[in-house]
Amino acid sequence: MLNQTEKRPVILAIGGHDPVGGAGIQADIESIGSNGCHAATAITCLTVQDTCNVRKLIPIPATTLLDQAQAVLSDCCVSAIKIGLLGHQDSASAVTELLKANPQIPVVFDPVLAAGGGSDLANEGLLSVIRDELLPLCHLLTPNTHEALRLSRQDQHTSLELSAQALLGTGARAVLVTGSHDMSDPQQVTHRLYRPNEPAWQSRWPRLAGEFHGSGCTLASAIAAGLARGLSLVEASQAGLAYTWATLEAGFAAGRCQRIPFRYLNLSHTGAPGS
Ligand code: PLP
Repeated sequence: MLNQTEKRPVILAIGGHDPVGGAGIQADIESIGSNGCHAATAITCLTVQDTCNVRKLIPIPATTLLDQAQAVLSDCCVSAIKIGLLGHQDSASAVTELLKANPQIPVVFDPVLAAGGGSDLANEGLLSVIRDELLPLCHLLTPNTHEALRLSRQDQHTSLELSAQALLGTGARAVLVTGSHDMSDPQQVTHRLYRPNEPAWQSRWPRLAGEFHGSGCTLASAIAAGLARGLSLVEASQAGLAYTWATLEAGFAAGRCQRIPFRYLNLSHTGAPGS
């Protein structure tokens, strides 16, 4: 019989470092670990930021990014890949190359295009590599409403449905649009999962007050962990949303601006497939 360590699926998290520990790779490590998996990591960029905004983004050379990912992929049996902030088009191209070489591994991509404080984190060069090369290789995208519209080149007046269909049209297999930026319902947040030829699946949650730093990373990582543990896409989405909502409800003020999700929940979780 395998012990718990041997049964813990490995997830490769590819993303940026946030020194304040709210978003990025630290969020991925905490969320993946709390959801029964082990996070191996490959850093795309360093950032200089606090809980208020991002001041600087320093890309890691694409060859170094690939070397990190290859070290993990050639040593571990990776059950899922989670991608967050890419920060530079060369990083996006390197990740594309990596995904093409490992087509059997499910990929969850949280397309981080802007910081919570408003700084733009994606120029047109990066956006076109994402649209044309990366999206077709992803099993699940988890954009918020702003990211879905920008990635699909739609304006605010376009329906989310149309925007999600345009993203599915790139070849991405599913899109979970997170709804916290949509203030049409002040009491509730609705998240919608779109898949080709299926009605949209919805999940509603009570709206929590305040703003959070790293909620998108927390969610995408938790869903990747659910998929790695053998859950279906809908089960992993629901479990990821429930976990993320609980981390936000337990969120805390580490600094002056956005609150940080408290991710050390579920720690009794063994994560064993079938357990
Ligand atoms: N990853 C890094 C390194 C970041 O700096 C940010 C935002 O600033 C994000 C991810 C996305 O954060 P969130 O989950 O709040 O969208």
